[in-house]
Amino acid sequence: FGGDEFALLITEVDSKAAVVNIAENILQVLAQPFLLAGHDIFVNASIGMVWGEANYVAAEHLLRDADVAMYKAKDCTRHQYRWFESDMHSDAVQLLELETDFRLALDRREFELYYQPIVDLERMKITGFEALVRWQHPSKGLIFPNDFIGFAEDNGFIVELGTQVLEMACAHLADWDRVAGLDPELSVSVNIAPDQLLQPNILSQVEYIIETAGISSRHLRLELTERSIISNGKVVNEVLHALRQRNIRVSIDDFGTGYSALSCLHTLPVSCLKVDRSFVQPITHGSTSLCIVPLSINIAETMRMDVIAEGIENMTQLRQLQKLGCKYGQGFLFQKALPADEALSLLSRPFFSDWSMSRSA
Ligand code: C2E
Ligand code: MG
Ligand code: MG
Repeated sequence: FGGDEFALLITEVDSKAAVVNIAENILQVLAQPFLLAGHDIFVNASIGMVWGEANYVAAEHLLRDADVAMYKAKDCTRHQYRWFESDMHSDAVQLLELETDFRLALDRREFELYYQPIVDLERMKITGFEALVRWQHPSKGLIFPNDFIGFAEDNGFIVELGTQVLEMACAHLADWDRVAGLDPELSVSVNIAPDQLLQPNILSQVEYIIETAGISSRHLRLELTERSIISNGKVVNEVLHALRQRNIRVSIDDFGTGYSALSCLHTLPVSCLKVDRSFVQPITHGSTSLCIVPLSINIAETMRMDVIAEGIENMTQLRQLQKLGCKYGQGFLFQKALPADEALSLLSRPFFSDWSMSRSA
């Protein structure tokens, strides 16, 4: 049916068990290695099965449902074969709808950036923002990134989405500069997905976007996760050095969440560590609640990097982080992410008095 897809029409069969038997036989045969030019080659197969009930009116519908079941089998590590079930159909339809919706959303530019302030914890001053994408869906309203970034990564949309995000962030910076003039130390941090970083033209693209917007590269920072840095060491190393040459700073996002980049961290030109929210959230008065936070701050200091604590939600967390010498922070205690114009207006009034007054109120 395709380069590597085959169909089997079984007519003389009286039970589902007999079909399962056939599927298991096929899998067993395919599990043997093939000898190819002196090498043992192993192949994997996934089988989707559908029982031809009387309510099927078209052959294509049988094939379609077998295909849906086959994809389910592929997703599932336990079974290599699956029977079609009617709710798989609604899953498949939903996924197809999401794909169509997403395509349209990119074309219609339905994605928007919200900005969460990054605060200097000594001076209580906003020194930057993190740009966070939202999907302004025409019928479903505002959708948060956790509900679509994974999908976009799995379906190859992330690269185009990432490009739009970079363009929007740089355009907003240029707007803010025109309207209010940018403080030289102000930066906007943009999240970059692993696949986006690995595009061969990522450097020229970033340069082009910065140039088109007419901003200085010192105002842009890129946030990469530990995951993308570790899994593609050599390429990433080259890209990071090239970014450094262009004065574009790089932060490691979600630092400490399991893929410990420690072994290669000292060789990479990274300017900032972002301590993940999951380490900031448990902080209370006690010193044991600090977990790896002091360590992360020390690592950053030793390597002459900035450190940002993510997800500060209360005064206890803030005070503890200040005591530990954590330089920067972001979190709902200060501000949730805001649309671009509201973020700009935060810059034009004294943040500290504004914020401390509202906290004491
Ligand atoms: P992230 O990069 O670690 O961003 C921080 C997330 O934590 C944001 O969620 C932010 O709203 C949330 N947050 C900030 N302070 C607090 C707090 O005090 N408490 C709590 N509970 N949450 C807080 P958001 O905007 O939903 O984004 C989630 C994730 O989606 C981001 O995590 C990032 O990994 C991804 N993401 C967002 N925008 C983009 C984008 O443009 N491109 C890519 N590739 N990923 C993005
Ligand atoms: Mg981030
Ligand atoms: Mg993070």
